[in-house]
Amino acid sequence: MHPRPEHEPPEDSEARKSLAPVICYPVEALPEPDLSAYRSARNGWEKVADLRVPPREALAFEVPAGHFFRITSVEGPQVGDLNLFSADLSERFYSGKTRALHGTHLSRGDRMWSGFPTLRPMATITEDTLDWYGIDPFGGSVHDVIGTRCDPYTHCLLSDGGQYHHCCHSNLTRALAEARNLSPREAEALVHDVLNVFMCTGFTRETGQYFMKASPVRPGDFLEFFAEIDLLGGLSACPGGDCSSEHSSDTAACYPLGVEIYRPAHAPEGWVQPAANRYDRSHGL
Ligand SMILES: [Zn+2]
Repeated sequence: MHPRPEHEPPEDSEARKSLAPVICYPVEALPEPDLSAYRSARNGWEKVADLRVPPREALAFEVPAGHFFRITSVEGPQVGDLNLFSADLSERFYSGKTRALHGTHLSRGDRMWSGFPTLRPMATITEDTLDWYGIDPFGGSVHDVIGTRCDPYTHCLLSDGGQYHHCCHSNLTRALAEARNLSPREAEALVHDVLNVFMCTGFTRETGQYFMKASPVRPGDFLEFFAEIDLLGGLSACPGGDCSSEHSSDTAACYPLGVEIYRPAHAPEGWVQPAANRYDRSHGL
C-alpha cells in the first residue's frame, strides 16, 4: 500500500515515471507447448477417476505422467486452491516463478513450474472454459498465482487470536498428511503457495492491494491439465466459496469440486517428459 508521499518529486519525475515497462522474462525462448498434439491425445482417452473434494476440505490425488486431469465446478461457484508435488515429494509447484514467466493469472498454454533446482514444467494447462473472462475493468482475472493460500496464521493475526482450522493451508496439510502418512508438521512444511483455480482476483490501481470478487465459474466449467511428471495433487475447496466476501469462516456458501483423471490411449505426438533444469549448480564456487 502506498502512503501519501512525504517527499517532493524531483524535477524529472514525470520523465522517470513515463518510461515504458520492459517485460522481465521474454518468454519467446521458452519452448511452446504443442497444444494441438496434447489435445489430439484426448481422442479415445479413458476416465480413470472421478473424485469429489468436499466443501471446506481438501483431497490428495495421484496423476501419472502423461495423464490429464480436470478440476471441475460441480454444484455451485467454488474456488479451489491447488498444490502440486512430484510423486516422490522432492519437487513442489513454484507460484512466484510461474507468475514471473506467465503473468498474474494462468490459462491455456501456461505451465505450472517446479522450484529450484529442477525448475521444469510439472503440468501444462490444456483447456480453460473461463478463458472468455480475460481481464475485467477492475483489473481482475481468474486462476491467479498472485495470492498465497488462506491460512490460520494470517487469520489469527487479523482477528485478534481467532482459531480456524479449515483454511486451505490446513486443509492441504491434512490431505497430504493422510495421503503420505506424514505427521502434521512434516506435511505442513511441504504445503506451498497455490494456483487459485476459478478465483477472480487482481490488485487495486490506487493502493496496489490484493482484491477478490465473486468467481464467474459455474457448474460445468473446468480447467484441464496435462501431467508432465508423476504428480501428487492437493486441492482444497476454499472456505471462501466463490470468494465474493470473505474466507476463513463457515459463513460463505461452499460447494464441492470435482477432480477427473484421464488416461490417454497414446502419448501426445513428440512429447517427452521434461528434464530437470540444466544449470550446473556450481554457483561460481
Ligand atoms: Zn482458501
